[in-house]
Amino acid sequence: MTKKQKKNLKRIILSAAILGILLALMEIPAIRDRLPFPENAIANRIVMTLLFLIPYLIVGYDIVTGAFKKIGKGQIFDEEFLMMIATAGAFAIGEYSEATAVMLFYQVGELFQSIAVGKSRKSISDLMDICPESAIVLRPSESDPDKIEEIEVDPSEVEIGETVLVKPGEKIPIDGEIIEGTTSLNTAALTGESLPVDRTVGDRCFSGSINLTSAIKIRTMAAYEDSTVSKILELVENSTDKKAHVEGFITRFSRVYTPIVVLSAVLITLFCALFTNLGLAKSLYRGLVILFVSCPCALVVSVPLSFFGGIGAASRQGILVKGSNYLEALAHVDTLVLDKTGTLTEGRFAVDAVHPNEIDESVLIDIAALAESRSNHPVAESIVKAHGGHIDSSRLGEVEEIAGKGIRAIIDGQTYFVGNGALMEEIRADHHDCHLPGTIVHVARCNAQNSGVCNSVTDVISDAAANDSYDAAAPTAALTGAANVIEYLGHIVINDVLKSGSKDALTGMRSSGVRKVVMLTGDNEKVAEKVAKETGVDSYYAGLLPAQKVEKLEALLKAQGASGKVAFAGDGINDAPVLTRADIGIAMGALGSDAAIEAADIVLMNDDLRKIPVAIRLARKTLRIVKENITVSLAVKIGIMVLGALGLAGMKLAVFGDVGVLILAILNALRVNRVKS
Ligand code: ADP
Ligand code: MG
Repeated sequence: MTKKQKKNLKRIILSAAILGILLALMEIPAIRDRLPFPENAIANRIVMTLLFLIPYLIVGYDIVTGAFKKIGKGQIFDEEFLMMIATAGAFAIGEYSEATAVMLFYQVGELFQSIAVGKSRKSISDLMDICPESAIVLRPSESDPDKIEEIEVDPSEVEIGETVLVKPGEKIPIDGEIIEGTTSLNTAALTGESLPVDRTVGDRCFSGSINLTSAIKIRTMAAYEDSTVSKILELVENSTDKKAHVEGFITRFSRVYTPIVVLSAVLITLFCALFTNLGLAKSLYRGLVILFVSCPCALVVSVPLSFFGGIGAASRQGILVKGSNYLEALAHVDTLVLDKTGTLTEGRFAVDAVHPNEIDESVLIDIAALAESRSNHPVAESIVKAHGGHIDSSRLGEVEEIAGKGIRAIIDGQTYFVGNGALMEEIRADHHDCHLPGTIVHVARCNAQNSGVCNSVTDVISDAAANDSYDAAAPTAALTGAANVIEYLGHIVINDVLKSGSKDALTGMRSSGVRKVVMLTGDNEKVAEKVAKETGVDSYYAGLLPAQKVEKLEALLKAQGASGKVAFAGDGINDAPVLTRADIGIAMGALGSDAAIEAADIVLMNDDLRKIPVAIRLARKTLRIVKENITVSLAVKIGIMVLGALGLAGMKLAVFGDVGVLILAILNALRVNRVKS
């Protein structure tokens, strides 16, 4: 509890005690009978009002002052204002203890609500515990530049390329690469993965992870503002700005609801006063009961609270949701589209065979690795890894990545093409497929570097890649005659493995309500078919360029219509446009991939597909709770209003009902946290 909450609790207790004493005194016959003034005398009313004003003001003075401030601003359909009018009315008709009790209940509800909101804020800020307080940076001493000093600074003051020392037990302050030491890192706060990971020299590590075993030195690779921690915090902080449809609905709803209730309170009072023999005081009382019910607090509070809880619960599992709207959409996912490489499969290819054409195997691998050395595509990273040795980047000239196809690179002054069959078609290389199954990486060289033919070839390709006008079936005139200058050097066959959790993930998705799972890939048909069979996706499309993936997704969106949502999950490499286009874009293994974090609506910090069904279940549960809360609180309110109008419910029941529903709704909202992973 915060200081303010403790203070409010004390006010509630004190006021309740005084109210209790006053009520008890009134009940003691010896006192009651000896009251100096007869029950209905003006003097009696004044004394009673003054007496009950003590507990009333102790517990409600802030409501009263708040209400006057609101009148100044013209906001008269505000809860505080309504509370004040209603309780003042109760005092006026002699319902002193009711007025006080009502204010008490109201404040109990407010206290409850502020504790609940604070609690779910905290669950998100638990994640914010990833914030490092300081960084120890190694800098040359000012007095003796040859000596290196350890200086403790604010993480934001560390520059890119500086060396930072992280002792065991401390958080890594900034993203970087380990240059000294070996240790285990706990990345639970980022990924929800509780097993520590081992990291050594050359490995990247992300800010927010906790260094467990031994001191390491890190060369920083980003400024603090661009580090993982800052990115995540920014994302989480902004997530509550994006409102779900239901939330918008509630805001609009209470804007009409409150005036309607106030109006009906006035009408009921007038009606009873004019057409019944209840008398003014009793008529007013009925109107006041309805006024008490008018506050839609349970609705207004519990809906965002439930979403807040859902987003918080997700973030603790390494699932970052960028807004309530996405959580709401996720609950309605019907079609899930998955990228293959890096999503269903590990994205770590092993080289199965090297088939060179009249050159040495090692030369072929050398060229491929050099060309791929600047790409972060899983194929590229695997080939560089398979090469294993030192890569002499001074041999490398201009490099161009052709999305979904491969690489054009200038090595030792000559142009090379490294990529799939589609790329070879494009440059009209005399290539052939391999009899071995797997992803084929072809290598071809342009032998007319100086004649300019290669440059025109590359121009055509980059033009085609840029505007997608290139039609592989009908090569443009610029390519005619290119074949004889393009020499096919051979190919490398690589194979990927399924992620261990892929099958389970698919089962999980089905059981959490996804009806259709589709795989999209830029890889060849054979590989796609194999992966599709092994994982059990419903359908797949192979050989797609990034733009074609978008087209396929649009077709799926269209087929889906308005009946459900289409989500796409990918790693953000070559599929960022698809991530953006889907109803819900889910980026996998986003730790360290800024592009994916930007493009996606939901970010899975680790690359475990099994988090998707968890996220869907959380979303569904959140929405179910929201709906329960809306239904129950509306039903209770309408019920009390009807009873109040008929004179069957008093003020205390009205407020008690309201606070009761609010508390129930809050407790219900907190249940979101209890979804099993
Ligand atoms: P996926 O849909 O499987 O994630 P991409 O669209 O990223 O695949 O790439 C499709 C295909 O293009 C790959 O299977 C590979 O054959 C080829 N490719 C893409 N980038 C490269 C690269 N850097 N080097 C070699 N081949 C590549
Ligand atoms: Mg991919």
